[in-house]
Parts: sequence; C-alpha cells; structure tokens
Amino acid sequence: DPERAERAKRALELDLEYVFHSWLAQDGRQPFTPDGAQGSWLWDGAGTPYLDFSGQLVFTNIGFSEPRVAQAIADQAARLATVAPQHANDARSEAARLIVERAPGEEFRKVFFTNGGADAIENAVRMARVHTGRRKVLSRYRSYHGNTTTAINLTGDPRRWANDYGSEGIVHTFGPFLYRSAFHASTEEEECARALEHLEQVVALEGPSTIAAIVLESIPGTAGIMVPPAGYLRGVREICDKHGILWIADEVMSGFGRAGRWFACELANEAPTGAPGEWKPNLGRQVTPDLITFAKGVNSGYVPLGGVLISERIAATFGQRPFPGGLTYSGHPLACAAAVANIGVIEDDSLIANADRLGREVVGPELHRLAESSPIVGEVRGLGAFWAVELVRDKETREPLVPAGASGAANAPMAALAKACMSRGLIPFINGSRTHVVPALNITDEEARYGLGLLTEALAEVSQTL
Ligand code: PLP
Repeated sequence: DPERAERAKRALELDLEYVFHSWLAQDGRQPFTPDGAQGSWLWDGAGTPYLDFSGQLVFTNIGFSEPRVAQAIADQAARLATVAPQHANDARSEAARLIVERAPGEEFRKVFFTNGGADAIENAVRMARVHTGRRKVLSRYRSYHGNTTTAINLTGDPRRWANDYGSEGIVHTFGPFLYRSAFHASTEEEECARALEHLEQVVALEGPSTIAAIVLESIPGTAGIMVPPAGYLRGVREICDKHGILWIADEVMSGFGRAGRWFACELANEAPTGAPGEWKPNLGRQVTPDLITFAKGVNSGYVPLGGVLISERIAATFGQRPFPGGLTYSGHPLACAAAVANIGVIEDDSLIANADRLGREVVGPELHRLAESSPIVGEVRGLGAFWAVELVRDKETREPLVPAGASGAANAPMAALAKACMSRGLIPFINGSRTHVVPALNITDEEARYGLGLLTEALAEVSQTL
C-alpha cells in the first residue's frame, strides 16, 4: 500500500525534525512508526505486523481499535465534544457512577477526574494533606507515580534522580520484594513481617502525627510487578488506622482488570494458593484504601483520562470546605464517553476473568518454564495480564543484567533484547533489567503463546552474546 508507506515515512521524518520526546536524549532516535492497529496487533508503513506485549505503556487493556469505544467517542464528539468542568455532563456522570460501583468495599463515593496518572497522584496527596492537616507522605523505593513535581518526588526509581530538587515532606521506604530482599528474608512470610516492621519503624521515627498518607502502587508496575505477599496490604491498613494516616492506592497501572481484578488492592482480602498467579479470597474483614488513583486502563488510553476515587469520609471533608484544586479538562466528555464504553467492553467480554485465567493458565506457566530453561532469567512473577521477567548475569549472585539507571554502552544487553524482539515482530515493555509481559486483557491464548515463543527466542539470542 503506497499511501500507507508514504504516510509512515512522512510521520517519521517530521517526528525526527519537530517532535521532542519523553525521557530520552533527542539525537539518534529511531522511533517505531506504527500506521494502524487492531486488537493486539500493530502494523508499520510496510504492513509488517507486530504483536503488542507492552499494552503501549500498559494502558491498552481492551486492545486497539475497539469499535464500541471508537463509536462512543465519535457520538460524543458529534453531540457535545467538550464542556467546562463545572457543568454537569452525562458522559462524566455515568463514568463516575460506573467507577464508584466497581471500587472495592462500601466506602467509595465520588470521583475527581484528571487528565492522567500524575495529576491524579498530585490531587490525591492534596486531599490527604487537607483532610489530615499533616504534610508528610511516605512512598516506596521501586515505584513510579508520574512526572509532575509531587509525583516524581514520590517516585522511587531512577527517573527521580534528575528531577529531585528536594522532596518536601516525602520519605521513601522499602516494600516487600523477596527476590531482592532489603530485610535478608528467605520466605514471603518473613519478607512481609519485616517489611511491615520497617514501615512501622519509619512511621514511628518520622513522627506519626506528621504523616498524611502512605502512597503505594498496590502492585508496583514499571518498577517490577512485585505482587505483595499475603497480609502486606492488610498490615499497611492496620498501621494507617493506628496512626490516623491515609492509605492511597496508586492503581494507575494495576487497575481496571490488569491484575485480573478491577483493582489490585482487592488482593488485601486474598491469599495466594501457590500455583503461578492464583489467589483466593481469604475471608477476613474486608480492608480497602482511603483514596485510589487511576488512569490508563479506565478507558484504555483512547482519550487521556485519570482520576481519584474518594471515600466517604474524605469526600465529607470537602462538603463545606472548598477543594483547593482543579483542571480545565477535568472529566472531559470525550475521555469519559470512552471510559463508559471501555468499562462496558471489559464487562460484556468478561475481560477481567479472562486476564485472571490468562495469567494462571498461559502466561504464568509458560514464563515459569522459561525461567527454568533460560540462563539469564532470574525470576518471573505476576498475575493476570501483569508479569515481569527479571534478567540477571548470574542466577546465583542475582547480579542484574544491567545496572540500575543504565544507559548507552552499559545498557547494551537490554537494547539488544529490544532489537531482538522487534526484529521478530514483538513489541516488548523493557525497564531496567526486566521485560514485562503486559498485553491487552483480550489477547488470545494463541497470540500470547506465539509472543512468548518470540520472547524466548529473543532472550536466547541475547544470552548467547554475553
Ligand atoms: N502511577 C503509576 C503507577 C504509573 O504507572 C504511572 C505511569 O506509568 C503514573 C502514575 C503516571 O501516569 P501518567 O503518565 O498518566 O501521568
């Protein structure tokens, strides 16, 4: 198709000339230039197909070009494309209702809409500070919360390093991560108990009466998909309750079915069975966060949208007192129409159950086999459509394949892995020494197996060059 080839060629030329990109040195970029997409597949200007194991930035939960969502956006654009945030709007009202009704437990009442994840975090922290009258916020190393000032300072990964001009009132702690335990633990139970003890000590020494909130990705995403051990989130809730601290669950990446649940914080009420990726309800008292931030999968990124789910008692703080925050595009009708349709697709097509099954029956077992056979796979972990493959130089020492924050020559093996995947028609999600398997929730079993085969080949190619 010469038209398609020409369009892609021009897109690339103009990109290199005029577009300034995120997180990268601008010179020498060679961006992939997809020209169209359907389901889990994208194709380039030559019509070459690529299977998407990245969900782009882990947001296309329903895959590409879903006609029900495209139609909802088109209908909304034709009737009322945009409106100021202070007016009521049917798409926004309905999106808020659907989201509140899918929140865990009985406490959640309202939604504040934002344009994406970072501003959801900013506003959740602002709500927590006003509600508690306290300033400090605890977050974790090995986390990502976004690129605005508060969000990047809360972040605990190398992206903060260049942006850290003094993180006012923010304190980082260690979360549970048995493979690289900060606590010399050898079992998940030990790791859980010691991580909670560490958190409790930080709270005590920072001064409980100064801490507004503990911000946690329910499952850290970009930082490595560390599914919390049974009891950890419940323990965080207890520490919060003891000291009047709020629990903010960042579900920007882990929400809307990614983890085989509407929200990954539902794991607070479950326990793992021992089988790869399988958890079962454990019938304790149901515990839930005070605030939940979301974005990405809420409408699969068809139009930018994020938000904060607000529990009753925090919403009540702002009953009489004005909320000191707002955004021109809060609850944009096109984004909210996309959310309503997207939630409809997730439900009508049973995508949450499918993601859960995919993790237990296909991706989990296949990745565990890969971990046994590959000399550079140190660990695989995850659940649902949310898996990490941790690459190491040496399985005994667990030395990461590349150092934290590596770029250029130091990052060569990971760059080689990206190339080995792309040359086989697989779009990977690579961060540090990991590749994540984070496809659309409706990827078929055959597509997932095919992609895992390509990933296995690419890893073999890289391991042979070491
Ligand atoms: N929080 C988490 C857990 C994320 O994964 C991200 C983005 O990757 C963000 C916040 C920031 O979202 P955004 O890039 O939409 O601002």
